[in-house]
Amino acid sequence: YAAKEAKSGVTLYRPSMHTDDSSRLLLLGDLRRALDATDQLTLHYQPKVRLSDGGLHGVEALVRWQHPTRGPISPAEFIPVAENTGLINRLTLYVLRLALQQVRGWLDGGLAIPVAVNLSPRCLLDSELVRHVTGLLREHGVPARLLRLEVTESAVMANPAQATATLTELHDLGIHLSIDDYGTGYSSMAYLKQLPVDELKVDRTFVQHMDTDQDDAILVRGAIELGHNLGMTVVAEGVEGTAHAAALRSLGCDIAQGYHYARPMPGPDLDRWLQEQRAAIPAAAG
Ligand code: C2E
Ligand code: MG
Ligand code: MG
Ligand code: MG
Repeated sequence: YAAKEAKSGVTLYRPSMHTDDSSRLLLLGDLRRALDATDQLTLHYQPKVRLSDGGLHGVEALVRWQHPTRGPISPAEFIPVAENTGLINRLTLYVLRLALQQVRGWLDGGLAIPVAVNLSPRCLLDSELVRHVTGLLREHGVPARLLRLEVTESAVMANPAQATATLTELHDLGIHLSIDDYGTGYSSMAYLKQLPVDELKVDRTFVQHMDTDQDDAILVRGAIELGHNLGMTVVAEGVEGTAHAAALRSLGCDIAQGYHYARPMPGPDLDRWLQEQRAAIPAAAG
């Protein structure tokens, strides 16, 4: 990742410089301004596809930042920086608003497409989150069952009591919940069991090597069994090829997400993708 030169000749920061406090502050300042601008932060949507019949299960909203001078910056770069400050709460609400606007647009076009939004660990500690989510759903006239929130195991384990309380309130509103990146954290079965979560997303690092790495194959199989034993739907992330899809199907995995099906794309492109797929929309709301 080479440093980019702005037109002025000034060297802009790059990821490896983020250990540097001043470049972190620069990024945070730019992100704060991006939240006030109208066009820098957008969402891409990636389909989650049923392995049984190829129908659409829903989409995951993934934030994209088009920086005015640096160009696109990956969420893997700026989310962790925002997570260290309160800015992540503003960013989350921004993303939720864009996602619900899109769901509203799809509803107006006759499509009920459930959308998943990622929640950072810090969001589960935000006492205002539930009130804000409730308000946003009402404002956009989107039924709670069309919203899904993804949290990681580590987000839950950081403060299990508070996380469980927040997740229970969200669940009671009718919102669906997923455990994201399953396998990379340290949740115990005891905790998973008591959470009001109905979907387990197996991290892509295990899925990607399940054809060549026996340990990963065993992990994926185990995660599918665990999820099913707890009454959850199991999603495989990072499905990149036909062989993976076939293997996952034979293991009884329910849903797949990955480049094999589609890359994350702007909302209008998803409309076109759906037309091409002739996906079974009416069955998607489940
Ligand atoms: P995630 O929630 O696990 O999202 C899945 C990531 O995997 C996305 O990366 C997606 O583009 C990528 N992906 C999907 N299919 C494939 C595949 O087949 N192969 C490979 N190699 N990658 C695939 P992305 O969009 O760069 O996002 C990275 C992470 O940033 C997300 O991981 C999530 O943790 C975080 N993130 C993204 N948007 C948001 C947001 O709005 N809020 C928060 N809090 N975090 C977000
Ligand atoms: Mg996610
Ligand atoms: Mg994930
Ligand atoms: Mg992941």
